[in-house]
Amino acid sequence: MKKIFPLIVVLITLSVAGIMLIQMSWINKALELRRDEFQRAIDKTLNESAQEIQDQFMTKQQTHLFNKSDRSYYLENNFTTQGFFSRDELHGIIENTLRQNGIKQPFEFCILNIFRNPVFSSDGFKQEDIPNSYNIGLANDKSAMQQEVLYLSVPEDKGIIIREMGWMIIVSIVFTTIIVLAFAVTVRTLFNQKKLSEIKSDFINNMTHELKTPLATISLAIDALTNEKVIHDADKIKIYSSMIKEENKRMNKQVEKILQAARLEKEEIKLNIQKLDTHQIISKVAENMLLQIQEKNGTLSLNLTATNHIIDADDVHFSNIIFNLLDNAMKYSKEAPHIEVQTLNTGNGMLSIKIKDNGIGMDKETQSRIFEKFYRAHTGNLHNVKGFGLGLSYVKAIVDAHSGKIKVESVVGKGSTFTVILPTSLAVAG
Ligand code: ADP
Repeated sequence: MKKIFPLIVVLITLSVAGIMLIQMSWINKALELRRDEFQRAIDKTLNESAQEIQDQFMTKQQTHLFNKSDRSYYLENNFTTQGFFSRDELHGIIENTLRQNGIKQPFEFCILNIFRNPVFSSDGFKQEDIPNSYNIGLANDKSAMQQEVLYLSVPEDKGIIIREMGWMIIVSIVFTTIIVLAFAVTVRTLFNQKKLSEIKSDFINNMTHELKTPLATISLAIDALTNEKVIHDADKIKIYSSMIKEENKRMNKQVEKILQAARLEKEEIKLNIQKLDTHQIISKVAENMLLQIQEKNGTLSLNLTATNHIIDADDVHFSNIIFNLLDNAMKYSKEAPHIEVQTLNTGNGMLSIKIKDNGIGMDKETQSRIFEKFYRAHTGNLHNVKGFGLGLSYVKAIVDAHSGKIKVESVVGKGSTFTVILPTSLAVAG
């Protein structure tokens, strides 16, 4: 399966390249055919013009020789255009035969006598054109004394090929482009699918691990509870049952996170909008987390300076936003986390909530991806940091649903600041 994919890509690339080569060779062949056709039409024109000039010469001489060899003999010895034709007459004869043979472009001509002096020449014909002109001896026999040669210069009409085959070339270019684009899109989709399936299997591994740890702890605690020595010790029973309760709470939290993500996937965010005092909610969430932060010898300071701190929002989701951001600030810290929450009003009735930590920070690449679902940065030696990479994608979805914005500023090793900007409640803003 792993090898089939590159093989398909190589085969399709080769096939597309092959088809393009075949098309190019077809177009080349058509150009050659067109050139041959042109050459044949010119040869025919020269022969017919010579014939017509000879015929008219014979008529002008009032010589009626019907026997072919007599006529040839006569022409060999007497033929000349000089004195028998005007330049316009000759021009007319050549033009007629050219048009009859389907050649429409302008032409120039010249007739040279045996001494290679011009007898007739059209205005545009230049001596230098002679080597590149088509020519024919006007008398029958090349060795004839009176041999005059007609030189005809017709530029090959390259445009005619483009005009005649233009639509075919355009259609084949369009189809080839469609095939190449469709192929590129297919390959990209396949790569994305592959990446997604890797991310999903990572997530499942992660989730299994996250749920297994509390399950193992609960199982051990239950074993302990049934132990003869423990069963009569009220203190120990209390310790073990609170352990079970803690682990249970942790599992619940994990399951809730996964459910939140699943709901987001189905775009089932139902908001129960009401007027919320953000300061009150921030204080409540902070209070619940204070103990954990203090356990890590950290501090949490609230600097709630916004005067207009009432927003229209869903209280559960808003609490979750604050909880997730504070939880991350605590999780991604090196040692003692020092976290600061600040609120302030910015112009046009917005409330800005900043959550600043002194944690491990993030590089630019990580900052640009943290709001993607399942994205987790490699946290180096912070092996114990658990998570599914779902928290911030949830936060962003909820902030967006409240017509707000979320930004992150971060320096590796120094810390990060997340800023959530939400519109304040209009009633109060007024
Ligand atoms: P989780 O914490 O479950 O991995 P999140 O979506 O909450 O998922 O966060 C995504 C990633 O963003 C984290 O894995 C971490 O690498 C990075 N991150 C989030 N918050 C912070 C922070 N305050 N400091 C440093 N990195 C952070």
